[in-house]
Amino acid sequence: MIHQREDIEGIDSAILMHPSVWEASGHVSGFTDPLVECKTCHNRFREDQIEDIKICPEKNCDGKLTESKQFNLMFQTHMGPVQDKGSQIYLRPETAQGIFVNFENVMTSTRKKIPFGIGQIGKSFRNEITPGNFIFRTREFEQMEMEFFCQPDSADEWFNYWIEFSHNWFEFIGIKKSNLRKREHTADEKPHYAKAALDIEYNFPWGWGELETINNRSDHDLKSHSEKSGKDLSFFDEESKERYIPYVIEPAMGADRTVLAVICDAYDEEDLGDEKRSLLRFKPIVSPIQVAVLPLSKNEKLAEVSNDIYKKLQKVYRCQFDNTQSIGKRYRRQDEIGTPICLTIDFDTVEKDQCVTLRHRDTMDQIRIKIEDIEKEIEKLFTSF
Ligand code: ATP
Repeated sequence: MIHQREDIEGIDSAILMHPSVWEASGHVSGFTDPLVECKTCHNRFREDQIEDIKICPEKNCDGKLTESKQFNLMFQTHMGPVQDKGSQIYLRPETAQGIFVNFENVMTSTRKKIPFGIGQIGKSFRNEITPGNFIFRTREFEQMEMEFFCQPDSADEWFNYWIEFSHNWFEFIGIKKSNLRKREHTADEKPHYAKAALDIEYNFPWGWGELETINNRSDHDLKSHSEKSGKDLSFFDEESKERYIPYVIEPAMGADRTVLAVICDAYDEEDLGDEKRSLLRFKPIVSPIQVAVLPLSKNEKLAEVSNDIYKKLQKVYRCQFDNTQSIGKRYRRQDEIGTPICLTIDFDTVEKDQCVTLRHRDTMDQIRIKIEDIEKEIEKLFTSF
């Protein structure tokens, strides 16, 4: 979205902002989940996530649940040395508002014209009532949000555009199309200001769950911040001579959930007859390690050439150097990490042929290639994953 497009700028906005930002956005009054508590075991639950809203869902507890009350999910802290009501601030529960309050600053400093977007990736914090399902729901998580500012009449078109863009991107990073679905929000799910909202969901081992929401946020955010701050955030279009508050289309995605979905789809077990192999079939673009450099032994004779290869490749790829354990065990370890390519340096490399063994994660094929051809061969093989 950011590095490969001319119409989107990147930003890294503040985590702690003035509390008025969260008043203008509606988070102080409305960023809540319905909370119920069991009168017997005192565990707390989100009312919208349990089947029977009267009886405790905990095993071996049939306690009665309290009436639900709205629980604000924002973490609070204090700014400065005095801890009174006036110094109370919040950790951001989403990255989006940091973009809205910087809208004009970014637009004028980068000389952007509508339509354009501002995107960022960063930590958000929510005091979730029931975190869980591994990294699906945590209290501190990484969001990737982009606010795309457009002319109001073009908003529907951009809404559809960003849905397709996001869907294609999930496939591009290795999520199976059959495990993705689009789900339009029902009327009671949609925030009051949203003209349209759609979730892209993934079929997790426990069921369908949201990876991303694409929202048509209308002119709600810029309007609210204009009103609260007294700063006019309208845009004047030189060509059409029209002045308007831009509409916003927002793809809002969770990085952690996306990683979890990629891992779920990449995980595989293979029966090799005498043993079972576990592997992560990551596409090379998302593999945490792309190339492993594995000298056959710790023998000094292999050290120099192995280090040279590692240092050269490290400039281009995410690499790991490993010279402990038997080579078979090291291959299995790299399979579990999801490393697409392993390079083994042996005594023939130094004494005879100036070649290394290249092993392919998925086929387990091993070929002998010249040191000078390593990068060319990696590039060619990367397209086969
Ligand atoms: P949910 O309904 O699952 O609580 P949400 O609709 O409140 O999520 P949004 O406010 O739309 O989530 O945030 C955008 C994205 O941020 C979500 O699609 C999700 O991927 C991610 N996200 C939200 N809350 C969490 C969390 N507690 N842990 C991890 N990721 C999260």
